[in-house]
Amino acid sequence: MSQGLCTSCGYTGETKTVSKGSIDTEIILWFCFLIPGVIYSIWRYRSQHEVCSVCDQATIISAHSPEAQKIIHERENREKEVVAPVPDFRPPSKVAIGTGRVVGRLVGRFFK
Ligand SMILES: [Zn+2]
Repeated sequence: MSQGLCTSCGYTGETKTVSKGSIDTEIILWFCFLIPGVIYSIWRYRSQHEVCSVCDQATIISAHSPEAQKIIHERENREKEVVAPVPDFRPPSKVAIGTGRVVGRLVGRFFK
């Protein structure tokens, strides 16, 4: 387990280590034919690679690499832009105020 950044989905954090092939095949080969079992185990061990904990893609780069730092930095900037408040306040129109008063009066009468 190590810290990595997935270039497929943008996940940052712990990654999983997986091997190609299967443990079942490995056991069968070990029991039936010792030498292929050894070779298969070595092949599986050598094929170990880091994958994303979220999308299982092998597009993991070290979280400490300059590329990853750049991606993380860009993402933080993007998030800041989204969080920034949008000035979109318009004062209500005369019609809206009038309607509000009428509705208010009606509601007031109804609950008397
Ligand atoms: Zn991913």
